[in-house]
Amino acid sequence: MIKRISPRRCGILRAAFLTMCILFSVTSINAEELPVTITGENKEINIGPHSEYYIDHTKTAAFEEILLKEGEFRQYKKKSYQFGFSRSTVWIRVRIKKADSLQPDDFKRTRLVLDNPALGSVVLFVPVIRKGVKTTVTTRGGWMNPQGTLDNDFLYTTFMFPDDYDDTRPLYIRVETPYAYNFGITLYSWNSFMRTSYLLMIMIGLCIGVLISMFLYNLVIYFFIKEKQYLFYILHVLGQLMYQSVLFGFARYINYSAGSFLLSYILLLTSLSVFFALLFAKTFLVTGKTAPRHDVVIKILMTVMAVVFVLTILEYRWTSNVVLYVFTQVSVLVCISAGVASYRFGFKPALYFIIAFMVLALSTVIFILRVVYIVPENTLTQHSIFFGTALESILLSFALGYRIRIMREKEQSLTAMSITDELTGIYNKRHFSDVFRGKLLESESNNTPVSLMMLDVDHFKRYNDSYGHQEGDTVLRELGTVIKETLRGDDIPCRYGGEEFSVILPDSNIEAGVFVAERIRTRFMEKVFTPGKSKGAVTVTVSIGVGTWNGKESGDAFFKRCDKALYAAKGTGRNRVISAES
Ligand code: GH3
Ligand code: MG
Ligand code: MG
Repeated sequence: MIKRISPRRCGILRAAFLTMCILFSVTSINAEELPVTITGENKEINIGPHSEYYIDHTKTAAFEEILLKEGEFRQYKKKSYQFGFSRSTVWIRVRIKKADSLQPDDFKRTRLVLDNPALGSVVLFVPVIRKGVKTTVTTRGGWMNPQGTLDNDFLYTTFMFPDDYDDTRPLYIRVETPYAYNFGITLYSWNSFMRTSYLLMIMIGLCIGVLISMFLYNLVIYFFIKEKQYLFYILHVLGQLMYQSVLFGFARYINYSAGSFLLSYILLLTSLSVFFALLFAKTFLVTGKTAPRHDVVIKILMTVMAVVFVLTILEYRWTSNVVLYVFTQVSVLVCISAGVASYRFGFKPALYFIIAFMVLALSTVIFILRVVYIVPENTLTQHSIFFGTALESILLSFALGYRIRIMREKEQSLTAMSITDELTGIYNKRHFSDVFRGKLLESESNNTPVSLMMLDVDHFKRYNDSYGHQEGDTVLRELGTVIKETLRGDDIPCRYGGEEFSVILPDSNIEAGVFVAERIRTRFMEKVFTPGKSKGAVTVTVSIGVGTWNGKESGDAFFKRCDKALYAAKGTGRNRVISAES
């Protein structure tokens, strides 16, 4: 069966095709004049469009054999070299001339830099004239060439030119790496080299600093809270921290051989970091409950990461790199999607989680757009993923904090619920018992009076019997409202039992207590009820006993004294306020 493509889809496809065309047309820039000239001016030159390349699929060709392949070199047209994942070796040929006006000092300080710190082996075949003989010397760099002859261990593979450099012949660069063949080669004057290096160091310091702080901060929180999410977050950040430190040579700077060793196993760090990011997502979002389908996908991705880990240990670097490259992007998208599902389910902290992974995704998009020249290529865009990682760690930490805030709010509302009477909205007996003695102590230490009011609805059984329980509830609700509206903010109104209420009146003497009680009684009496189908209007009255604490009696005795006053009100005809004898 042939499916018809809807016109709308057709439009989308056409737009996608157009975008691709534009992308491809922008990606290839014109080749430039082949020889590059070092003038000593303050600038940096991308070797890319000035060079030629040859891909050696055998991986074994020696320099002498490469010299015989003169005609097989092709001119390169882009700014930086993008050969992706390849099992071959890349040879680059470039003529670098010295300008006549070039000062010897400026030449000495010129640097040739390969800007991908993960390149395995970089060998330079430099033409020289030594003792009057035209010959070639080799210079090595990259982590597969332990302590080569590179003059800078930190950051990128960096080369200098020897004094007897022969600029009449081309220079050859052989690059071999089990990771991606994506790198730029730049010829720097001293000033621009220093400027770029400082910018890089500030950037690395900033991002590594953020990662270290987030790691330590959440480690401390984990130490106290002991929640799994924090542990997984910490391990994720630790993975990122180690990955970036190793990648940028920070680790090599501390210990060269350990740093190089870790760089050769850097995929272990990536897979671990992604593994813990997924585990964090699973635990934090509670995907088992909030997004069951995503939960399954996350489990699968975690398995993939575990497999990559094992493959790397077994030295299948190329395969694990390709798998990792693809599945890391997939993991980020799945995390965003799981976050959205969880947010839709009602888990609010998922919001920061989504933003965190969106930032990470965006940084990857910027990185890719840079490769195709849609965003400018510079030190900042080149390391957008590093910035993205640092920002992601902050935002995830926000998500964790936000989760705690929401938990606390929930706890507060639970507490409020546990001390509130459902029917009337005032406090319940539990709260009365909790605060009663405390209020007496407070009055003692402040040397202020405290009064207690006991209130009971008159003939309420009769009311219920005549009009039903629901109508009775309406009366109680109304009474609750009248009490609330009559009291001051400090007073504590409680529903003590069925149709009985008690009010603690801090800072009130007996006159004030009786005054408030009278107010409640008269205001409530004025309320007119029209229960059920009865046509007539009905009023309900209350009896109240009020007392003021004498400071000597126990809380129980005080309570009983007020209750007795209430009974006295009942016994003397109801609908009245009686003050307790002290
Ligand atoms: P008195 O004037 O002596 O207080 O008479 P009374 O009928 O109010 O006193 P009694 O203690 O005999 O009856 C209290 C009634 O209050 C019994 C019960 O039906 C009613 N009651 C208790 N709690 C509730 C409630 O939550 N809702 C309703 N509708 N009625 C309740
Ligand atoms: Mg009663
Ligand atoms: Mg009653």
